[in-house]
Amino acid sequence: MVVASLYEQLAALDKSHVWHPFTQMRDYNNADPLIIERGEGVKLYDVLGRAYYDGFSSVWLNVHGHNVPELNQAITDQLGRVAHSTLLGMANIPAIELAEKLVRIAPAGLTKVFYSDSGATGVEIALKMAYQYWHNRGVYAKKSFITMNQAYHGDTIGAVSVGAIPLYHDVFRPLLFPSHVVPYPYSYRHEGGAVGAKEETLSAIQTILETRSDEIAALIVEPIVQGASGIIVMPPGTLRDIASLCRKYGVLFIADEVATGFGRTGAMFACDLEGVSPDFMVVGKGLTGGYLPVAATLATDEVYNAFYADYEEQKSFFHGHSFTGNPLGCAVALASLKLLEDRKIVEGVRVKADFVAAKLAALADRSHVGEVRQQGLMIGIELVREKASRRSYDWADRIGVRASLRARELGMLTRPLGNVVVFIPPLASTVGELEEMTNILARAICEATEGS
Ligand code: PMP
Repeated sequence: MVVASLYEQLAALDKSHVWHPFTQMRDYNNADPLIIERGEGVKLYDVLGRAYYDGFSSVWLNVHGHNVPELNQAITDQLGRVAHSTLLGMANIPAIELAEKLVRIAPAGLTKVFYSDSGATGVEIALKMAYQYWHNRGVYAKKSFITMNQAYHGDTIGAVSVGAIPLYHDVFRPLLFPSHVVPYPYSYRHEGGAVGAKEETLSAIQTILETRSDEIAALIVEPIVQGASGIIVMPPGTLRDIASLCRKYGVLFIADEVATGFGRTGAMFACDLEGVSPDFMVVGKGLTGGYLPVAATLATDEVYNAFYADYEEQKSFFHGHSFTGNPLGCAVALASLKLLEDRKIVEGVRVKADFVAAKLAALADRSHVGEVRQQGLMIGIELVREKASRRSYDWADRIGVRASLRARELGMLTRPLGNVVVFIPPLASTVGELEEMTNILARAICEATEGS
């Protein structure tokens, strides 16, 4: 904890020099910044000593909580050996062990692991690999991608090219390669409900594949839960049917499990919920328990073999990052996966998810709550100006921001997605902690929407 004058100094320096992501800095600079000093369990503490529940898992990646002795120890042990090392032409122990582990827990058929350092770079790799897979096989026309309306796959140019959230992506459109965008099944806002939404998505994909599959390299999707668009859960069976269509028409299937991986949805991977085995699976965020920036793109033998050739043939995957396979990151990822198994975290998520669903059930009846959406411990609460007509609040109402700020005053951090309040607690939260967090959430929503 620091004295108030030191806080003032830090706040002034933050405002002077730090440009925060996804932030309108004029707004940010008009408020007192929240400066975090430390974390313990599922709470974060600011420099003035105030405690907050980490209600959005520090951007959806906290698995075991903060300051976890086993994870700290894994990093410390590895620090005493080597902290950096390249995978360019050599290997390191944690990267080897982690690859073996990931292959063991991944959906069947994913046997190769290509490391990177963020979800976005993991997506770039999947896109480039899918493209080059066809190229290496002499199929040069297959060079575009199918993506979902409102998709979010990260902020690098390739990932933005398969992104479809107008607010984030449209400004960059002239820089991007074009993708085929199909409707995402958003049951709440589809006049045909879940059945109609699912049908619309599948028939749009089928139409494109019937007519243009010879031009399409791959389809990319956030499996089961579309995250950044507002935690929108697919109707059951949709993912499985999308994967079958891709198989049928010879298009590679990329599952972006960056947000959903490692137990978040109540299964190890969201693909497991529907028995789907993709051609590529991208993981990041929770891979290291949220500790360090490591991501991975898993691929099948079929994909790998298209790159496996003689040196002279120049079929290598010419892509790599300085921090690819960083041993500190891989060591903490291994420790996190061990805790995930030893503590039966994924099984626990299912029980806790039922508890949270019961706690939030009454909220759905509130006049400004349109829908409470949940899959495992990924929860989005869509606020509406008018319940009957489902009319949205205007952007200028800042309703999501208001609810989140109220939650912060009440002792829980969260970050909204437009009019959707997001609740993504650390997977290791106890039922008691979840009870307190859901109480804060419900109260913040009620108070923020009162009289609006
Ligand atoms: N894909 C999905 C589905 C995501 O939710 C995110 C991040 N929220 C990303 C990719 C990008 O990951 P990163 O922020 O680590 O680049």
